Amino acid sequence: MITIDGSEGEGGGQVLRYAAALSLLTGEPFTIGNIRGGRAKPGLMRQHVTALEAACVIGGAECNGLHVGSTEIGFRPGSVTPGEYRFAIGTAGSTGLVLQTVMVPLMLADGPSKLVIEGGTHAMAAPPFEFTAKTLLPLIAKMGPRVTATLDRHGFYPRGGGRIVVEIEPAPLRPIECIERGAFERGKVDALVSGIPFDIADRELKAARKVLGEWPEESFAVEQLPAEIGPGNALLIEAAFEHVTEVMSGFGKMGLPAERLAKTAAKRMAGYIASGAFAGPYLQDQLLLPLAMAQGGAFTTVRIGRHSRTAAELIGRFTGREIGFSDTPDGAHLIEIR
Ligand code: ATP
Repeated sequence: MITIDGSEGEGGGQVLRYAAALSLLTGEPFTIGNIRGGRAKPGLMRQHVTALEAACVIGGAECNGLHVGSTEIGFRPGSVTPGEYRFAIGTAGSTGLVLQTVMVPLMLADGPSKLVIEGGTHAMAAPPFEFTAKTLLPLIAKMGPRVTATLDRHGFYPRGGGRIVVEIEPAPLRPIECIERGAFERGKVDALVSGIPFDIADRELKAARKVLGEWPEESFAVEQLPAEIGPGNALLIEAAFEHVTEVMSGFGKMGLPAERLAKTAAKRMAGYIASGAFAGPYLQDQLLLPLAMAQGGAFTTVRIGRHSRTAAELIGRFTGREIGFSDTPDGAHLIEIR
């Protein structure tokens, strides 16, 4: 039985998702107290409850204390059963983060799965659909399993109502070395708007263009979605390299000027491009679990974030595997599964 203090390290929801996934993968039960102790409003939120419920359903697990607001749970895994599942978050909580909880266990199961996940697809502090589909899943394919994701309907904060469909074809995981990202192929900036003035998208693209000035005019586009799924606004900035496509994003919210949202996301992309590293700030922690289960591999990345340190610590506790962090001569960083 592993005992976790949920306020340590990153101190948020990621600790729960990683612990549940690792527990299903290793068969090791765990308890966690001080859940989301590092957040202003601690305890489980709706999306964390759905993620843990999903882990219980696919993994025949038992979880006590599982309700919104709970600060302590106990989780006892069973065996993972592939199949067709539907998980509805009921808020704009992230569909991508529910997927993050169950994907690796299902990738290593003994049959294919199909998941329908309903909730938010483009909301703050979580991977937007395009990041999952274009950044993460192609790398998973290089490791063996084939995971494809389709966006049926966008879901923005606060309304939610989005839907993704994910098909998982398991295969043994093989380690990959993600050191060089290869040559830059193309950049693309999409401003998604739904039920809000078109002018907002225009202002975002102008602000992004100021930062990413070398990208040609036709790389910048507005995508207007049906008003009834909104209000919603997301800016998606994509850079395709030979070996990886990175997606940086910004999400509209009341009181946040369009220019500021766009400048922040574009600067994040510019920083990533300037670094020469393979993985951007979010791919880091999301690559660690599949690589750890492949028992090897390495990648270069931008500044190492707390999510990655926390993920590495949890992987160590559940699997005994060590993750090494070091600096590279060109100022990037190397993360290695040892
Ligand atoms: P909390 O509310 O406690 O912070 P959470 O579950 O919403 O909990 P985190 O624990 O911070 O969130 O985890 C967020 C996860 O989403 C991480 O895996 C991170 O890499 C990913 N993520 C956040 N923002 C983005 C983004 N813009 N693009 C891709 N991935 C993202």
